[in-house]
Amino acid sequence: VVLLALMDEEKQDLVMRAATGKGVEPLLGKHIPLGSGVAGRVASDGQGVILSPIPPADAAPLIGLDARALVCVPVQTAGQTIGILEAVNPKGDAFNSDALLVLTGIGSLAGTALANAQLYERLESAHRRYHELFEDSIDALVITDMQGRILEANRKALLTFQPDEDTLQIQTISQIHALQPEIVGEGFQNLSKDRTLSYESELTLPPSAGLPVQVMVRRVNFEGTDTLQWTLRDISERKKLDTMREDLIAMIYHDLRSPLANVVSSLDVLSSLLPTDQQDSLQTVLAIARRSTDRIQRLISSLLDMRRLEAGMPITNQRETDMLTLVHEAVETVQPAFDSKEQMLELMEDENIPHLSIDSDMIRRVLINLLENASKYSGMGSTIYLGVVRDGKRMQVSVEDSGPGIPAGEDEHIFNKFVRLEAPGSPKGIGLGLAFCRIAVEAHGGKIWVQSEPGHGSTFYFNLPIP
Ligand code: ADP
Repeated sequence: VVLLALMDEEKQDLVMRAATGKGVEPLLGKHIPLGSGVAGRVASDGQGVILSPIPPADAAPLIGLDARALVCVPVQTAGQTIGILEAVNPKGDAFNSDALLVLTGIGSLAGTALANAQLYERLESAHRRYHELFEDSIDALVITDMQGRILEANRKALLTFQPDEDTLQIQTISQIHALQPEIVGEGFQNLSKDRTLSYESELTLPPSAGLPVQVMVRRVNFEGTDTLQWTLRDISERKKLDTMREDLIAMIYHDLRSPLANVVSSLDVLSSLLPTDQQDSLQTVLAIARRSTDRIQRLISSLLDMRRLEAGMPITNQRETDMLTLVHEAVETVQPAFDSKEQMLELMEDENIPHLSIDSDMIRRVLINLLENASKYSGMGSTIYLGVVRDGKRMQVSVEDSGPGIPAGEDEHIFNKFVRLEAPGSPKGIGLGLAFCRIAVEAHGGKIWVQSEPGHGSTFYFNLPIP
């Protein structure tokens, strides 16, 4: 009888995995603790043993076998014992030292072969896992060679590009979607190993022709050769939402702007028609209504400006503007907010600021946004400093407050759309003010930034070029 037992790495014992000879079946699958019995001892010591004949104390694990002599050797690979090989004979004097030598040789061959088999099994299972991930991805995945010829495609890709057998066999990635050579390079030379290129495109073959996709492509080493891995993600839902957003903004433009202008002019007429004896209290109410409608108008105008400037349209309403007058107008607009929080504004201005050719309404709204934020984020009774200076070929505005400041690392981020640094009890907002300021200032060739010491206030700066 010859038996092979291998280490069970989890349980830290031996398991009888293979056997040949008479009466071996009951032994298969049996566990042998390390250090116990002949096999357990050989496995833990790593030394071969001959028992010819077997002393009665060691016969117990071999009950059922006609065993009088045995030779047992470790199965080793890279100096580690991974199991044992044991030969059993019914004759008490069957084995001598030659038998030990031969079995030790077989054990070491078996060790290498078993280690290779285990590696192969692991590789196979990794391969299977990768293949399942590849096949089950909800994105269409395509592997091509470096010329764009398709080598492999997952289930989703086949469903999307080749729903029936009759469809012409697709051979290259450029048949599937509108390739963008200016991004990937003619001949894909822009694709290096460590970066993913991404662009929006459309599928070109029926039945999915026209479907918008986000394409992500990168170079990967696939089974020893360089290949390109393409991910084509369906972005039709996102596109639909984009269209809805565009429609909503268009609705704001057409359906809210003109009635709001009517409300504003009616409020003006109303205030001029008021009998003089009631003027004080009613004028106050009307002024509040007027300020609120102005705020809505500014918000709508800023939303529309952002949309136009983001679409790459130039500024059209540029006119020579006296910057100091513009600054005073902005301060006047924000004054009620300062008053309600008993805040002071200190204005420091250079006398020699030249007139600038700007869209004054837009830049006024930038100033108002920064001043309103300074007031909103600073405490009662605090002072806000507004500076307007000439700095060489640039006019620079600074708004300094004593609010909570901007946490380190957020000074770029806060200029992105819908970014708000929420803290308990912080004022309400929608996170569009600073995004508008950046777009408007940059469209004028200027720059906007913030310097802040968290806990000690922040200073927002912007500059505009002096021609
Ligand atoms: P909103 O004020 O409507 O939230 P903004 O775009 O004007 O939107 O500002 C974005 C975020 O930047 C604010 O939510 C706030 O967290 C922070 N922030 C802006 N101005 C200041 C300031 N002066 N002091 C402290 N934090 C500010």
